[in-house]
Amino acid sequence: MCDHCRRRQLGSGTRCVGEGALTARDKVGVQDLVLLDAHKSEGAVLDNLKTRFSVDLIYTYIGTLLISVNPYKELDIYSKKHMDLYMGVNFYELPPHIYALADNAYQTMLTEANNHFILISGESGAGKTETTKKILQYYAVSCPSSALLDTVRDRMLMSNPVLEAFGNAKTLKNDNSSRFGKYMDIQFDSQGDAVGGHILSYLLEKSRVVHQNHGERNFHIFYQLVEGADEDLLRQLGLERDTEYYNYLAQGECTSMKTINDKNDWQTVKNALTVIHFDDSDIEHLFGIIASVLHLGNIYFDRDFKGFAVLNSSPELRWVSKVLTKALSYRKIEAKAEEVLCPFTVDHAIYARDALAKAIYGRTFTWVVNHINESLENQDPARKTVIGLLDIYGFEVFYVNSFEQFCINYCNEKLQQLFIQLTLKAEQEEYEAEGIEWEPVQFFNNKIICDLVDEKHRGIISVLDEECMRPGDSTDLTFLEKLEEKMGHHPHFVTHRLANKKTRKTLERGDFRLLHYAGEVTYCVVGFIDKNNDLLYRHIKEVMQQSKNSIVQQCFLPDEGDGRRRPETVATQFRSSLQELTEILMAKEAWYVRCLKSNDNKNSGKFDDALVKHQVKYLGLMEHLRVRRAGFAYRRRYEDFLKRYKPLCPHTWPHWRGVPSEGVEKLVQHLGYQPDEYKMGRTKIFIRYARTLFATEDAYEIC
Ligand code: ATP
Ligand code: MG
Repeated sequence: MCDHCRRRQLGSGTRCVGEGALTARDKVGVQDLVLLDAHKSEGAVLDNLKTRFSVDLIYTYIGTLLISVNPYKELDIYSKKHMDLYMGVNFYELPPHIYALADNAYQTMLTEANNHFILISGESGAGKTETTKKILQYYAVSCPSSALLDTVRDRMLMSNPVLEAFGNAKTLKNDNSSRFGKYMDIQFDSQGDAVGGHILSYLLEKSRVVHQNHGERNFHIFYQLVEGADEDLLRQLGLERDTEYYNYLAQGECTSMKTINDKNDWQTVKNALTVIHFDDSDIEHLFGIIASVLHLGNIYFDRDFKGFAVLNSSPELRWVSKVLTKALSYRKIEAKAEEVLCPFTVDHAIYARDALAKAIYGRTFTWVVNHINESLENQDPARKTVIGLLDIYGFEVFYVNSFEQFCINYCNEKLQQLFIQLTLKAEQEEYEAEGIEWEPVQFFNNKIICDLVDEKHRGIISVLDEECMRPGDSTDLTFLEKLEEKMGHHPHFVTHRLANKKTRKTLERGDFRLLHYAGEVTYCVVGFIDKNNDLLYRHIKEVMQQSKNSIVQQCFLPDEGDGRRRPETVATQFRSSLQELTEILMAKEAWYVRCLKSNDNKNSGKFDDALVKHQVKYLGLMEHLRVRRAGFAYRRRYEDFLKRYKPLCPHTWPHWRGVPSEGVEKLVQHLGYQPDEYKMGRTKIFIRYARTLFATEDAYEIC
């Protein structure tokens, strides 16, 4: 038995820290930052996180928000034993844990019959995807079970390796970086059984298919296929077992990695595909597509005497249909009633080849997500409630930042905005509902940056779209000029031309810089117009529509090729999908996990103070803490407060038989609480100072 929490002892990784005991607090910090003395600020928060991290306590609360610091090592805190321990237990009774948060969301969903979501945020490599997987495992293992539903759970769990194979890649920041955003609804019936799921995916980073920076890789699935497929399959697909041989795989010069076992992962993915009901022909066609993208990447063009592109005689040509090879060297132009074939230059031909590779892969990824959704579909028409898990790419700053980083960082701005609205709103509503007066806390509202990016007709996305639509000679540089014209005086926007002398030195002429809530990011405009347009030549689409591969047929439908309606640009689509996501989330009750990266070198046990400090700052943790503390540092339902502290008062011990609020009143009077130290709400007691609660906890420890 543990002295502090009076429960069974946990494994070595999760010692109970008994909130109040001074000695324990010094050694392992407090488990809820709200309990730190209010005058102590950032330094104390960091010290507390560091102290806990040094003894493998990676989780800490701010109220119900969970902070997780990436340990970069396996901890023995995720076993079935731990899951059982956290099931149905009150939030503060056990040390902070992802299972405690998952369980609380689940129990609240059951008792209140409403919908919830867990927003998992943090920068690339901070541990969002690992956290999401742990929550999913918790629900899969801990929720009530029946034989029929077991298959739904298996499919839910198995959707992960498939999506990671197709949507994750090694980057400089993370060996398994999610290159798409994911929102997954887990649907429960009224008994709490997981009965289905649904995944929404956001903006896959398609450019990675054709280009990777030094030290980075393409999506895992390519390497898994080349390394893992048996000889027969390789022969059938016309592939060499040599990742270096493929232009689309070798640019980053790190095709193989110690931390990644492509061969094993291939087996896992193949097995997962079967569990999720991909039939043999789907699987065959899927790998056929992956192979054809690799072949495409190895097609080169020579220049003929007029300067036009001609295909060179690479062996890959055998694997690409004749019609397609023609489509990659000529463009079809409609002139009056005729169609004329116009030869490509070499640059155009390479552009067309890469655009096709990106389109095939991107659409196949969407097809995979849709197929997973079909297999997760809830077959039970009974009323259902959901818990949504949002694991979306974290804020990113590279040496060179492009359109992809612009979209990713904009997405993070939107989520920060949502966090601000929901935490403030939730806090205000709670005080209102409980009839408690409070003074709102002021903090930086990043709406100004969201507007800078997405305001209709005025924001950066609208300016970019206008440039993309403008016939004639719009270029990345004319886009930059338009931005300078329209955003010139915005406090969060600067370019080389607009900057003062000192800042100018840090900017190139083709750059613009945004002052994001999380810090400055300099974007290079090269490629913005092209990536936002994301056009595929119509005649190439027509060729794809004739493909015999059933997945390609579904991805390139005939009604798309008429060319009359211009498709929405990438940024506009993304803006709309984020708007929809915001609406989905606003209708649910929110829970937050803030993942922090402990260091930049993936070292276990290393806590980089400056790096963590930066994240604490931009994730708004100090502000959140201030909001939680404004007015009242702590609140607890009367029943829970009584249950814990009733031994401290002869009126309430061993039983209080009256109204709980009156029992609490008796209890706190007996403990000597001063009138300014607490307020009685409708259902909860609100305690203003952490020290008051500490004293009570200490008394509890002694008793
Ligand atoms: P990205 O935005 O790039 O997708 P991410 O936040 O999803 O990043 P993860 O892929 O979840 O980051 O984590 C990066 C790596 O950190 C993992 O591959 C794993 O090695 C380690 N890691 C993360 N969380 C944990 C944990 N709780 N325990 C042990 N290791 C972890
Ligand atoms: Mg991830």
